[in-house]
Order: sequence, then C-alpha cells, then structure tokens
Amino acid sequence: AKSNGRNGFEFFSADMRIRAQARMQLLKDLRSAIDLHQFELFYQPIVALNDLHIHKAEGLIRWHHPVNGLVSPDSFIPLAEETRQINVLGQFVFAQAIQTLTEIKAASGQQFQISVNVSPVQLSTADSGIDDWCDMLAAAQLPASSIVAEITEGLMVNPEALTQSRLKRLVQSGMELALDDFGTGYSSLAYLQEMDTDYLKIDKRFVDNIKADSQELALCEAIIVMAHQLGLKVIAEGIETPLQMELLLKAGCDYGQGYLFAKPMPKKEFMTLLSSNKVV
Ligand code: C2E
Ligand code: CA
Ligand code: CA
Ligand code: CA
Repeated sequence: AKSNGRNGFEFFSADMRIRAQARMQLLKDLRSAIDLHQFELFYQPIVALNDLHIHKAEGLIRWHHPVNGLVSPDSFIPLAEETRQINVLGQFVFAQAIQTLTEIKAASGQQFQISVNVSPVQLSTADSGIDDWCDMLAAAQLPASSIVAEITEGLMVNPEALTQSRLKRLVQSGMELALDDFGTGYSSLAYLQEMDTDYLKIDKRFVDNIKADSQELALCEAIIVMAHQLGLKVIAEGIETPLQMELLLKAGCDYGQGYLFAKPMPKKEFMTLLSSNKVV
C-alpha cells in the first residue's frame, strides 16, 4: 500500500510538472501572440426574441495558436489577466470592435452596437488604456452608445475606487453597461441600479435547465420582472433549443444569444449575415 501511495504521488507530480510546463509555454506564446497577429475577434449575434432580428453582437476573442490550434478564451484569459497582458488584449478587442462598427456604418448607414468583455484587471489597472476609449470612439465618429461594456458580477460587489470612477465615467460618456453571467455571483439588484446598468445577461447555466414549470424558469421570470422594474433589459445567454427560446420570450425576456440563432463567427461572415439581418 505504501509503495502504491508513493507511485501515486510520483505519477501525480509528473502530471503536475507536465501541466506546469504547458502553462509556461502558453504564457510564453501569449507574449508574442499579438505581434504575430494570432488573435481574431469573433462576433455572435444578439437577437430580439420577439422578431429575431439582430440587434447587437458580442465580440468574443479567439486565439489561433500555431501548434495547439484554436485555444479557448477560458484557458488563456486567466493567464493574460495574471500577467496583465489582458490590457493589451483588451485594447486590441476594443480597436477591432470600433473598426467593425465603422464598417457596418459605411455599409448600411446604420448605427450598430457591439458588446465587449471587460476584465476586472483592465478596470483596476492604472495604464490599461481604458481611459482612451471615449477618445477612440470620438475619433471614429461613433456615438459612445455603440459600445456595451460587459462586466461580471464580482466587480459590482466591492469595486475599488479606480474601478468605480472609471465605470462611472464610461457610463456618463454614454457607453452602455451589461452585467454578464448574472446568477453566478452575489451582486444585489441594488448595485445594478447604483451602477446605472443597462443590460442583465442571464447565465447559460439557468437557460440550460429551463423547462415548462421548472424552478429555473420561475427564477428567470422573477429575474426578468425585477430587472424590468429597475429599467434594465434582459439578454439570455446560451439559448440552444426552440423551447428555451419560447419559454424565455413568454417570460418577457428581451434578447437572446445562443447556438440556436448563430455561433460566434469571423467578421466577414458576420457582416454577410447582418446585411440580410435575419437569423433562423
Ligand atoms: P462569456 O462572456 O459568458 O461569453 C459567452 C460564451 O458562451 C462564449 O464562449 C460563447 O461562445 C458561448 N456561447 C454562446 N452561445 C452558446 C450556446 O448556445 N451554447 C454554448 N455551449 N455556448 C454558447 P467563448 O467565446 O468560448 O468565451 C468564453 C469566455 O471567455 C467568455 O464568456 C468571456 O468570459 C471570456 N472572453 C471571451 N472573449 C473575451 C475578451 O475579448 N475579453 C475578455 N476579458 N474575456 C473574454
Ligand atoms: Ca460576455
Ligand atoms: Ca446607461
Ligand atoms: Ca456570459
């Protein structure tokens, strides 16, 4: 039994070593990835549930790794946050969003809205570049409301002074605010109001389990009613089935996002889809 335990321990530590090495390699690759143009911003449509028209899109980062192929943001965003590279990445994402908004305006003559994910690190770092966002929008002759900043609940619970003043400034400039992954953290609805949030995004976890007469549906209905009372619009994430869509629409949900409508896609594809402005 003893030697088993020993072997077990050695096996475990070898496994850890391999994982640590992979992590180091990824960290190293991350450093050069921007310069090597390995990042691409994908776009996933957000549709109005009542007419299925595309109202906005969420920008989602993709990393084309030369060896590992497409690397999920869930695995490299935390690394980028640890090393503060998220600040450079965040500026890349914002610049891409502006570029795409400009192209949409030129192609359709219409204003559009793109939401970008903003990391708590970007908001709490002094030189993250976030303070230039309003100028960048103005330089591109786009209204601030073209951008929705998606932030997570954790931020709302106990924001640092710098984070708080930055969010206030963004909101005052006319940029919109969405609370991402609602239901997975601890923020109260009072915070939503205090921060002047415009959208609440119901986490995919709830949407996944929605059935008629389910607890999840009752919860969604309650969230939607409260959000509307506070003047917020609601976006449901991760809609995959017509039943989920139908129940959410009945529950009063304003917008939906999910594979049922469209997966995140490259800009070119998204532009084509948008010019027909009809999903499903
Ligand atoms: P998120 O902000 O909650 O984004 C929604 C995620 O759900 C995306 O995963 C999207 O592809 C996925 N999704 C949407 N609809 C469906 C569906 O119907 N079914 C399923 N199974 N998934 C769906 P993705 O693109 O892998 O991004 C993962 C997370 O990485 C994001 O979660 C966000 O937290 C982070 N992320 C992505 N891009 C950025 C970025 O540019 N900056 C920062 N800071 N974080 C980002
Ligand atoms: Ca998001
Ligand atoms: Ca607002
Ligand atoms: Ca989310």
